[in-house]
Amino acid sequence: MKNVARLFTQFQSSEYDVTFDINEEAMRFSGTVTVRGKKVGRPAQRITLHQNGLKITSGKIIKHDKHGDTELPLKRINLQNTFNEVRLHTDTMVYPGEYTLELGFEAPITTGMTGIYPCFFKDGSTDKQLIMTQFESHYAREAFPCIDEPEAKAIFNLSLITRTGVEVLGNTPVKSRENLGERLKTSFEPTPRMSSYLLAFVFGEMHKKSTTTNRGTEVNVWATVAQPAEALDFPLEVATQTIEFFEDYFGVDYPLPKADHVACPDFSAGAMENWGLITYRERTLLVYPQETPQSAREYIASVIAHETSHQWFGNLVTMRWWDDLWINESFANMMEYQAIDALHPEWHMVDQFIAGEGLSALRRDATAGVQAVRTSVHHPDEIATLFDPSIVYAKGGRLLFMLKSYIGDEAFRAGLKNYFLKHQYGNTTGADLWEALSMASGKDIASFMDPWLNRSGFPLVTITQNGNEIELSQEHFLDNPAKADTERRWDVPLFSAQLPEVLSKKSTKLSVKPSEPIVVNSGAKGHYLVRYASDEHRSAVIDLVRSAKLPEPDRLMLLNGASMQSKAGYEPYGHVLEMLDAYSNETGEPVWDIMSLVIGEARRFVSLDETLDASIKPFVSKLVAAQVARLGWEPKPGETSADTKLRALVLSLSAYAEDKTTINKATELFAAYQKDASTVPAELRFLAFLVPIKNGDDTAFDYLLKLHDSTQNGDLISDACDALTTTRQPEKALQLLDRIKNPSVVKPQDADRWLVYLLRNRYTRDVTWDWFVKNWQWFEDTFKNDKSYDILPRYAASCVNTPDYIQKYHALFDDKLDQVLLKRNIQLGFEEIEARVKWLQRDLGSVQEFFRHASRG
Ligand SMILES: [Zn+2]
Repeated sequence: MKNVARLFTQFQSSEYDVTFDINEEAMRFSGTVTVRGKKVGRPAQRITLHQNGLKITSGKIIKHDKHGDTELPLKRINLQNTFNEVRLHTDTMVYPGEYTLELGFEAPITTGMTGIYPCFFKDGSTDKQLIMTQFESHYAREAFPCIDEPEAKAIFNLSLITRTGVEVLGNTPVKSRENLGERLKTSFEPTPRMSSYLLAFVFGEMHKKSTTTNRGTEVNVWATVAQPAEALDFPLEVATQTIEFFEDYFGVDYPLPKADHVACPDFSAGAMENWGLITYRERTLLVYPQETPQSAREYIASVIAHETSHQWFGNLVTMRWWDDLWINESFANMMEYQAIDALHPEWHMVDQFIAGEGLSALRRDATAGVQAVRTSVHHPDEIATLFDPSIVYAKGGRLLFMLKSYIGDEAFRAGLKNYFLKHQYGNTTGADLWEALSMASGKDIASFMDPWLNRSGFPLVTITQNGNEIELSQEHFLDNPAKADTERRWDVPLFSAQLPEVLSKKSTKLSVKPSEPIVVNSGAKGHYLVRYASDEHRSAVIDLVRSAKLPEPDRLMLLNGASMQSKAGYEPYGHVLEMLDAYSNETGEPVWDIMSLVIGEARRFVSLDETLDASIKPFVSKLVAAQVARLGWEPKPGETSADTKLRALVLSLSAYAEDKTTINKATELFAAYQKDASTVPAELRFLAFLVPIKNGDDTAFDYLLKLHDSTQNGDLISDACDALTTTRQPEKALQLLDRIKNPSVVKPQDADRWLVYLLRNRYTRDVTWDWFVKNWQWFEDTFKNDKSYDILPRYAASCVNTPDYIQKYHALFDDKLDQVLLKRNIQLGFEEIEARVKWLQRDLGSVQEFFRHASRG
């Protein structure tokens, strides 16, 4: 495919004055932009900027040289919409040198959540809106003509003309406010030199809480006036602490005088790191003291840390081009856990990093044809497909964590500090980062990391132990081993006290005298799986699980590894279920996440044999019994946050297993919630909602719908959605589905959540799939410009368990492969569902056999 033309190679903008006049009544905006910069490269009769969907109302090119300023006569202004360009054609040659461009422009304000867009909220019974921006990755061009490429760093002088009576926020502090009759003109201090995708503004009726960091940076958390002030306290504390943490960790001060964090009612991604003006979904920023569960608090803290780390990684130093997006996202992904782990060690964030991101990365990366962390970009629309959370975020984060563990924290930090000092306000590629880390560690980081980053996939390391003789080998691991690359090889850090530091060869033999069972990849620091080939060795490692002598990350990765290897055909799934026995006294919450995932996998077999359901339930009931007894229903004073979360998890499993006591207790809890919501622990609220819905209680269904439609609490909205979508009544599912298309009851940002939960629910899957097919065009029309549009084939693939659903998947997506935004995920979906259905068919017998034994006890 042809590469995207880089306008930066022709014109290098250095400073913008941009003024927007926002007319909310007409839902239009107009503006003027003055761009100062340098014409470079070959002389031409035109200068080209990016634009998308703008009407250009005027244009001017002014040349600056020793003769002074000369306006070049403009022949015509030409919009090239397929390339997202506006071309200013002149009669004379434009030679390299200094120029100023002046353009006028206007466009409608659309609701697609990119460029300049409105957010809707209810203040009491009054409908209100904020106007805000989302410019990453390439949506600044929807707002004003500019060189919209990360390398085109410039200073932005922003002014906004808005209605009066609103708060107006930009990247930098306000420089001046001017009343123009009914209108308000707000001008902001110049931004630092930065990329266009980081420019932002938000205005509307908002309130804030403020504080300062120990170095005096002003930190503000904002929400609409419909949100309670106390919901701002927790994020304010975390936002302040994370700036202080990163200043210390990176050894470089936060570069702006203020940091605003804004909760926005309509937001496509989770959050966006605009420099000095970070925007979030309400659910990823606001914490309601009595109502927000511990799990949500931890998630919110990690999102704040993620965006704050970008103020350095991404904003201060930026990738040269989108193919190095991983530098931004991988780092932010790893650092969000590191930062919160430092602030709240009791939350065990690093174990959660391994259980969450580590597994997501491994599982996605085992699909044939998946993209590498570093991926080239050929078409503007492809930029948006890069943001695969499992690869660019999770796998990239895991690889950096592996690297940090390999060279040590001290060298890692020293390298980062040098990297920031050398490249601040500039752009880099991965090579610049490796150079800084190589200098600090004395190791050749590029040759170690490039094979991990530039290619998809990861190795399976097999260790075969025969007395003192050890054989180690590596092979490319895939869900579908037939597609694996048999030549592929990595430098694999073994993280084992008894083995060499790195396995570089395809296989090697050595002789050791192990005093205890050899554990490879201890701490689960590496992005790979381990296979203990001899039965004796494997049993010895499993015994370490049974006696809790293995640390939490190792326990969870052992079970995950067994499950993944089974799906690839290394051993029948019945063996994985047998392994659960070693985990019967498990108390670690991240480990239970994997156990629950294995149970979920076992439940997929029900699509092939409905009778299995009756055997899986008592098995699960028995498995959770010890933890249900230990944790009970009442939070204990001073208990760990892991126990608080584990209680909710094991009780939901117990509810799935239809344990009578659990069902009764949850039903009582729901009644209590309706009388006085504050009597129900936030972490158990979802369980209280879920049980009556599963039981077909119509009054509860209506109650939760009403609750969903009337609250402003994003977390409560999600809990209601998650519970309602567990309905077993297809006609109720249809009722919920029809609401998706009504933005006054379901926000477009939440549409996919309702859809995917109803698809994954086996009682509502068929009607939901049919509805999805019938309403595809609505999704396309509503989301086709959105970064998250490509999640739809991924969600659809996740619920395919049978050959007839493979057919349905093809029927829906085969003719959509020509959509650049969807192509990658549709194709991965083909691979994923083929591999899964083959596995389910292959291992059905083994799973049936396992449960026959299990039910005999
Ligand atoms: Zn990010």
